[in-house]
Amino acid sequence: MAEVRDRVLVLRHRPYREHDALLVGFGRTQGKFSAVARGVRSSRSHLAAGVQALTLTDMTVYRGRSSLYTIAAADAVRHYPRIRENLERTARAAMLADMLDELWSEHDAAPDAFSLVVEAFSALDEGRPAPAVFLAAFWQIMRQAGFALDLSRCSACGAALEEHPQPGFRAASGPVCGRCRIPGDEELPSASRAWLRRAETLSPDRLGTVLGSRALMEALERQAKHYILYHLGRMPRAFRFWEQVSGPLADAGPEEGDR
Ligand SMILES: [Zn+2]
Repeated sequence: MAEVRDRVLVLRHRPYREHDALLVGFGRTQGKFSAVARGVRSSRSHLAAGVQALTLTDMTVYRGRSSLYTIAAADAVRHYPRIRENLERTARAAMLADMLDELWSEHDAAPDAFSLVVEAFSALDEGRPAPAVFLAAFWQIMRQAGFALDLSRCSACGAALEEHPQPGFRAASGPVCGRCRIPGDEELPSASRAWLRRAETLSPDRLGTVLGSRALMEALERQAKHYILYHLGRMPRAFRFWEQVSGPLADAGPEEGDR
C-alpha cells in the first residue's frame, strides 16, 4: 500500500459503522478523495480533531486497491473557530466545500481551487463580510472549474455585451445583450458588471474586500445560484440549506460603496 501525505481540506464527514467515519477530503496535490477514519468515534482516537468537516489538516493516507483510502494520521492545521461560531459563516464555508465536491471528480488535482478555498476560509474566519467573500470565491471557482462567466459577449448571439443597452442575465447561460434579452432574464446593471469584473481578478488573499449595496449583493447571489444550478443540474446541499434558513441576506456588509 502506498502512503501519501498531503494538506487536505475536509469537505464532508459522516459516521460509518460503529466506530468509524467516512469523509470526503480535497488534497492540495491529490484533489478529491474518499477515506475511512477507523476507530475515530471511540474515545481514545488520535484522529478525531483532524477529520472534522471544514478543517484544514496535514493528513497521511494509505492507498490500497480500493478507491477508498484509509487515514493513518491527521494533524489539524486550522479549525476556523470563528467560522464555527456563526451560522452564516458556517453555511458559506459549506457552500464552497460543496463546490469543490461537486465540480471536480475524484483524483482530479486542482491546487489553485484548493488554495482559493483555503484563502476564502481564512477570510471568513477573520470575520470579513461573508456574502462578499463567498460571491468572489464563487465566480473564481467556477472559472477554475471551466465555467467562466464571460462578461464581454452576449451568451445568446455573441455580440459585444456593451453594444446594445440594458443587458440582462439569463439563468441558463449568463449575460445576454439588450437585443436578446427576454422577459424572465434578470437585470445586469453596470454596477453588477463592475463588481463581477473586480471580483474575478481579485487576488485570493483579498477575498471579501469588494463590497456592494444590499440590493446588488442579493442580485449577485441570485445569479450565482441560477448559474450553478444550470451547470450542475441541481443545487448543492449547502446552497439549499442556506436558502432555507437565510431569507434576505443577513450580513451583506455596509449599504453602499467599497472598502
Ligand atoms: Zn445578444
